[in-house]
Amino acid sequence: MNNYTGRKRSDIVRKNISDGVRNSKHSEIMKSDVVRKKISIGLNKFFSENGGAVSRGEKHSKAVGKYTKGRFNVNPKNIYELSNRTKTKIIKRLELSCCICNWNEDSVDIHHIIAKKDGGVNDHYNLTPLCPNHHRLAGNKKIPVEKLITLEQIVGDCWKDVYYG
Ligand SMILES: [Zn+2]
Repeated sequence: MNNYTGRKRSDIVRKNISDGVRNSKHSEIMKSDVVRKKISIGLNKFFSENGGAVSRGEKHSKAVGKYTKGRFNVNPKNIYELSNRTKTKIIKRLELSCCICNWNEDSVDIHHIIAKKDGGVNDHYNLTPLCPNHHRLAGNKKIPVEKLITLEQIVGDCWKDVYYG
């Protein structure tokens, strides 16, 4: 058997396998309610018997950084060095409110006091929490800069407690 035949044969095998998978009823079966119910009963049983296998609740909620997906940044200098997902979690966890109107019904926006396009950096002294309305106004320079309280002033190093737990 030469190389050519070898490659050819493996291509045929691969195609047969992929056809088999495509034609199988596996995906249909997985969608059925009975199977779904069985899976969910199985998972519930697993979680009730192996409580320690999953981190949740207080412990889980404290250390955003440790349980975050992806790379754990050991010594971030500001929240913008973290992934968007982690950054959002930290902002939520800090329960920041708009520094103009105190709105905090949902997570606040983080506004760059000096816009990035004007050379503003991601440091906390250039960031401020704003509600969507005030974010819009600040973006259009309708709020005097003196009125904006920086993230540095508001949270200081507290965000690190949330990150490291
Ligand atoms: Zn506001």
